[in-house]
Amino acid sequence: MSQLLKNKTILVTGASQGIGRAAAKRFAEEGATVILLARDEDNLNSIYDEIEAAGLPQPAVVPFDLNNHDEAAYIELARVIDETFGQLDGLLHNASLLGKRTPITNYDIDTWLRLMQVNVTAEFLLTKHLMPALEKAEHASVIFTSSSVGRTSKAFWGAYAVSKFATEGLMQTLAIENANITNVRFNSLNPGGTRTAMRAEAYPAENPTQVPAASEIMQPYVHLMSDESIGTNGQALDAQ
Ligand code: NDP
Repeated sequence: MSQLLKNKTILVTGASQGIGRAAAKRFAEEGATVILLARDEDNLNSIYDEIEAAGLPQPAVVPFDLNNHDEAAYIELARVIDETFGQLDGLLHNASLLGKRTPITNYDIDTWLRLMQVNVTAEFLLTKHLMPALEKAEHASVIFTSSSVGRTSKAFWGAYAVSKFATEGLMQTLAIENANITNVRFNSLNPGGTRTAMRAEAYPAENPTQVPAASEIMQPYVHLMSDESIGTNGQALDAQ
């Protein structure tokens, strides 16, 4: 590997499986110390073990439920990260829920609120409280994970599509507000159809081998995280 992320510390949300897990592994292979955040501790420990067994920089495991709107929990998380690592060079907002595929007029409020919390509000709270640690890095990159339905909606994608439009809005607002005044850049990346549990849930009839594995779409993630992309800010990009 090219070690494009050597000496960088990067937080990956949803690192327990799917695209986040592949990104965490690839970032570590590129030399980064990765902070692995998700709910499932067994899965987090297994990616921790995989990274350690490969002789890569020792990661950190952070079991954390993003379906938590208590701001104090995010303040405490940011404090621990700042104290432990001194700075944060990268933040990959990757964790999301798919929710129900049904018309908006049938959409239930509980699922709506859970998706908005995990897919949008948690990104806001994490970014808000991790900004001091991100600003301590010489150059920091924040990647938001979008979707094709976050750019042009489709029927029945409900709160998921709306949450991805909101994610794009959050990314653009942060990018404009921070351009020229901080060294933090903000972009969004749409992974495109990728062989994961979420994809199988969204497209149950699809032959999984027709879409790439998460490990096959990592080059744009590394590029956006690395200093190669300094100067790229406020862009909505596609991984495929
Ligand atoms: P998966 O469902 O495979 O993984 C989702 C991840 O999010 C898991 O690691 C899960 O961890 C984490 N997560 C979910 N809820 C919470 C929570 N409350 N707190 C903390 N972590 C949580 O999804 P993918 O890997 O497919 O998707 C990754 C990203 O890519 C998402 O943002 C998705 O919208 C986007 N995307 C994916 C596409 C695809 O084809 N796969 C296409 C377009 C966009 P745990 O359960 O351990 O908490």
